[in-house]
Amino acid sequence: MLKPDDVKMVEELLASGNCSQRAIALRTGVSRATIAAIASGKRSPRTAMEEETQAATQRCQGCGILVKMPCRVCAVRRYQTQVLAVRRWKAHLAARQNSPRRPAA
Ligand SMILES: [Zn+2]
Repeated sequence: MLKPDDVKMVEELLASGNCSQRAIALRTGVSRATIAAIASGKRSPRTAMEEETQAATQRCQGCGILVKMPCRVCAVRRYQTQVLAVRRWKAHLAARQNSPRRPAA
């Protein structure tokens, strides 16, 4: 599997016109068939998809994970925190209702 950077390098070498497909294959360790596919513009959709994904990802300031923004990990964590807060509040209210009333001072 070629990395997008490798594909880019192959494309640049092809565009330079200084290297034959065979020379590029030897230089990059990629099969000549793959070089030919890149030269003809027939690249695997997966490679194109990975390239897009890589371009769209960035390191989240909140959790530090490499994600496509907005970060869903942080969104889920925020949601969980809110759910927990509501649960704690409800438990607190229930406990207050069930406890016998203290006489007013
Ligand atoms: Zn995050």
